[in-house]
Amino acid sequence: MKYRNFPMVPRVVFGRSSFNQLNEIIMPKRISSEKPFIFLVDDVFEKNEWLTSRIPLMFNDKVIFISTEEEPKTEQVDALVSQIRSLYNELPSGIIGIGGGSILDLAKAVAIMLNNKGNAEDYQGWDLVHKEAIYHVGIPTISGTGAEVSRTTVLTGPKRKLGINSDHTPFDQVILDPELTKDVPKNQWFYTGMDCYIHCVESLNGSYLNAFSQSYGEKAQELCFEVFLSNGISEEESQDKLMMASWHGGMSIAYSQVGIAHALSYGLSYLLGTKHGIGNCIVFNHLDEYYPEGVKIFKEMKEKHNIELPSGLCANLSDQDFDIMMDVALGLEPLWENALGDDWKNKISREKIRSLYEKM
Ligand code: NAD
Ligand code: ZN
Repeated sequence: MKYRNFPMVPRVVFGRSSFNQLNEIIMPKRISSEKPFIFLVDDVFEKNEWLTSRIPLMFNDKVIFISTEEEPKTEQVDALVSQIRSLYNELPSGIIGIGGGSILDLAKAVAIMLNNKGNAEDYQGWDLVHKEAIYHVGIPTISGTGAEVSRTTVLTGPKRKLGINSDHTPFDQVILDPELTKDVPKNQWFYTGMDCYIHCVESLNGSYLNAFSQSYGEKAQELCFEVFLSNGISEEESQDKLMMASWHGGMSIAYSQVGIAHALSYGLSYLLGTKHGIGNCIVFNHLDEYYPEGVKIFKEMKEKHNIELPSGLCANLSDQDFDIMMDVALGLEPLWENALGDDWKNKISREKIRSLYEKM
């Protein structure tokens, strides 16, 4: 048995208003006045003075506001890298992502691609990045994906939706300021929060489980229960706890894997553009056969917060469409192996997957 030797985020700040410390944190990383910091910021904050006035711009630093209408694409990463290269003669001092999983993943990918040749799609896969990324900082503004702590950046490319999984992907610095999540719309709060809960269920019920993953997964799950099921928890406490749940959920899957909900959700996302959080919820709602306890509690949370999930997504799809989704889902072999064990190929069929999709 050869054990994997994973990198972790080496520096993290946690605390309400810790975003105010951004300037002092990045100052020592400013290489020169010619080498700017580039801030990739979710455009939901474009007119938000409360946040933008605290972005510590100096010299020729630049803020690029980015729409998260669609999830990150390899070509979007390539375009950002070209834009940055054409604006400056030198590589930036660093990339700082401020937003949800979409922006955090873009920041990681841009930091990698600024220092590596070729296109982002060339690096989708496992351990294909050989030169380190430039300094990159992640500042989540919504909690759940674990993208702030993970070793991947999930991108949709021309051929597939797949992460750049590498030792150079994790952030050099993360700032966890739960206050930044205060204006997240309720439905989105639930969907992205459930991404974390589903990470826990899939990790804790997977064949890859080990004491490392279990310890983080159980803590994250316990925090999710407090946030989504307990009564009388204050807004602030809830924001703090969900931010830590996201972190622990991400740590849990670092040393295990996700499972069937993620595999099927990737299919929906690839064909229909369904976003990760809501897609996971739509899929997980129908997975009681595989995760009975997890789905039961998910439904209680959904009820408690009056969340209505869309339905009929697959109602008008052609055979070819179903095939595309099934190919994407089945291509994620480690997810199935984690969920169903070594002989997973004997435990799931295309017919079964199609019948699940038809319910959604
Ligand atoms: P997101 O980043 O797409 O954001 C969702 C919505 O919330 C957007 O409309 C955004 O504008 C809004 N939003 C974010 N912060 C806000 C705030 N403070 N106030 C108001 N609105 C706010 O959603 P997400 O669920 O965080 O991320 C999904 C992405 O993360 C997907 O692309 C998925 O593939 C990726 N992901 C990555 C990993 C990883 O390990 N790298 C893990 C899971 C998911
Ligand atoms: Zn996820």
